[in-house]
Amino acid sequence: MATTAETPEAQGTQEQEPQFNLALTQDQKDVRDWVHGFAEQVVRPAAHEWDEREETPWPVIQEAAKIGLYGFEALQQFAGDPTGLSLPIVQEELFWGDAGIGMAIMGTGLAAASIVGQGTWDQAMEWIPRCYGTESEPKVAAFCASEPNAGSDVSGIRTRAKYDEASDTWTINGQKAWATNGGIADVHVVVASVDPELGSRGHAAFIVPIDTPGIEQGAKVKKHGLRASHTADVHLDDCKIPGAYLLGGKEKLDERLARVREGKKGKSQAAMQTFEATRPSVGAQAIGIARAAYEYALDYAKEREQFGKKIIENQAIAFALADMKMEIDACRLLVWRAAWMARNGIRFENAEGSMSKLKAGEVAVWATERAIHILGGNGYTREYPVERWHRDAKIYTIFEGTSEMQRLVISRAISGMRIT
Ligand SMILES: Cc1cc2nc3c(=O)[nH]c(=O)nc-3n(C[C@H](O)[C@H](O)[C@H](O)COP(=O)(O)OP(=O)(O)OC[C@H]3O[C@@H](n4cnc5c(N)ncnc54)[C@H](O)[C@@H]3O)c2cc1C
Repeated sequence: MATTAETPEAQGTQEQEPQFNLALTQDQKDVRDWVHGFAEQVVRPAAHEWDEREETPWPVIQEAAKIGLYGFEALQQFAGDPTGLSLPIVQEELFWGDAGIGMAIMGTGLAAASIVGQGTWDQAMEWIPRCYGTESEPKVAAFCASEPNAGSDVSGIRTRAKYDEASDTWTINGQKAWATNGGIADVHVVVASVDPELGSRGHAAFIVPIDTPGIEQGAKVKKHGLRASHTADVHLDDCKIPGAYLLGGKEKLDERLARVREGKKGKSQAAMQTFEATRPSVGAQAIGIARAAYEYALDYAKEREQFGKKIIENQAIAFALADMKMEIDACRLLVWRAAWMARNGIRFENAEGSMSKLKAGEVAVWATERAIHILGGNGYTREYPVERWHRDAKIYTIFEGTSEMQRLVISRAISGMRIT
């Protein structure tokens, strides 16, 4: 018998509250298993080589594009899931395979997210496919906010965009730092100041294609971890781009700046909007690394014998593994909650997005360190993957907002006060 809530009349008159449900649909399970298969068979076997080479793993990106895991359609499929869970599920599985390669595949998503978040529909349809290229010739994209003197404090951004009305052209000058895919990307999304007097509220985001005269890669960064992912400075020297490359358009920018100049509350800054939307996904990447380390350490502890018994038969080891499992599952719940809230338009009252990224990043560092310890001397060598996972995990307490910045956001949200 149909309940009242199921009758057509009731459906027509009552607004349905979106329900949070941990039971994955068959589609979500299929996506998870498909990505896991790719991570296990293609990504993990290639991980050590690309970490040592410190180069973008183009053949693996091509493989991902070929099976439909990399590209505009894939992004639409994962991000289109109304529960919001598909994207974190995909991220966790891929980064379980390897974080460096995972970032080489998923790093483009940061630029795509900023185009979706700040651009118009037409801009998204024009530029996101170009960010990814084609199945036979995949491309990558870069999101460039950070600068040598503007990391946690984005109000320090000095890159300047000036508008010339007569030619409807923007001219951009500045230096970007730490850009994932910087200089090798086909499309760069560049955050620049259009009105320095307004600080971070005077920022806007621009599309700068790689064939624009004046854009070029600066120094490539040699990193502690995530070494298969390319990170570099980007120089912008008198880069002239058409007015249409301003994300969101000039009219919207002028309206926003006018509101800020009148002292009205402006919407949050361009760079911050992108970070807020991507935080649960970033947390899911960290969970993938933590889970890889936990599973590896568990198997090892069940095999390795000392004092005539398996090392897991000692409570010290078994309890460490129990804690790892518990913390990883707790992270996943925070990430899925935040992803579900973001997808269903539910306001983050307590900075749930930041909470999920903070917790997952810190657990990934802790769990990978525990895994090294459980493997003993072997864990400290490059013959075993756990040392790489530990190096990879550390970035999750630094990029997309350091742990301190997340705590700042959370403490301000829960207190309503200006914590500094
Ligand atoms: C591998 C990698 C990839 C990256 N990819 C990108 C990218 O694609 N695009 C991009 O724009 N950026 C990228 N970044 C930059 C990254 O977002 C910044 O490194 C990060 O925001 C921190 O900035 P910072 O390095 O300047 O550190 P700083 O801001 O100088 O911070 C240094 C330390 O001081 C602490 N600190 C600063 N202010 C405070 C405060 N008020 N209270 C308490 N503690 C504070 C920080 O938490 C940190 O521990 C990347 C960085 C790396 C390493």
